[in-house]
Amino acid sequence: MIHNYNFYKAKLKPETKIMCMVKAFAYGSGSYEVANTLQFHRVDYLAVAYADEGIELRKNGITVPIMVMNPQEQSFDKMIEYHLEPEIYSFRIMSKFSESVKRIRTYNQSPFPIHLKMDTGMHRLGFEEDDLNELVVRLKNSKHLKVESIFTHLAGTDEAALDFFTQEQFQRFKDMSDAIKKHLQHNVLEHVLNSSGISRFPEMQLSMVRLGIGLHGIGTPSEQRQLLNVASLKSTISQIRSVKKEKVLVTTERQYWIAIK
Ligand SMILES: *Cc1c(COP(=O)(O)O)cnc(C)c1O
Repeated sequence: MIHNYNFYKAKLKPETKIMCMVKAFAYGSGSYEVANTLQFHRVDYLAVAYADEGIELRKNGITVPIMVMNPQEQSFDKMIEYHLEPEIYSFRIMSKFSESVKRIRTYNQSPFPIHLKMDTGMHRLGFEEDDLNELVVRLKNSKHLKVESIFTHLAGTDEAALDFFTQEQFQRFKDMSDAIKKHLQHNVLEHVLNSSGISRFPEMQLSMVRLGIGLHGIGTPSEQRQLLNVASLKSTISQIRSVKKEKVLVTTERQYWIAIK
């Protein structure tokens, strides 16, 4: 895994930070074991899907900054206690989190770091262009929150057919991020690239990247041979059968997406 980590690191400018995605049990390899190894190798940031994954890491001595991608209201207090930084993707979650910080922290503590997610076309979570004016006003009035980073997720960095769309998403992100940054008094990190993005769009590395599946040895076809296998799942085949041909409707999310585009 560290070989793979260094492979991606070597593609980046020395000053570009790396956030490693250790969500979903670190893609099945064990969150704590992976996080601890990465911490030893001075990873800048870790990201988990849910607060309880982050709490587990903190309880085991992981001190690296951790972003939580799906912060849920009932875990806000714990997140603050364990210093787990939320992805903020809506006004509702922003006010709720701010209220928790206000309630829990005493007056002389510094504002709590948050990460703003922009929706630039994936249409999963995030603020849209129309939200920016209100977002800026709310940030200016907030004594309890500090924007640590602004980011978005690119939907198709691994697919040449979507390169045009990737460029479009990046441009939209830059415009949105600039519009927010010009109202902030401090530096914020910006990040958009996942593993295949690091390989295919190094010019979009900004100040941080988010490395996930690449750590586990899955790369773009042209680089696959330079990565090392991290884990194997082996089984025995019970039976091999021939089945009559049938019409199958293939509707993975991506194929559906391409079809409507
Ligand atoms: C999982 C995830 C990544 C990492 O993607 P890979 O393709 O596994 O590198 C990056 N960003 C977000 C928001 C993610 O959820």
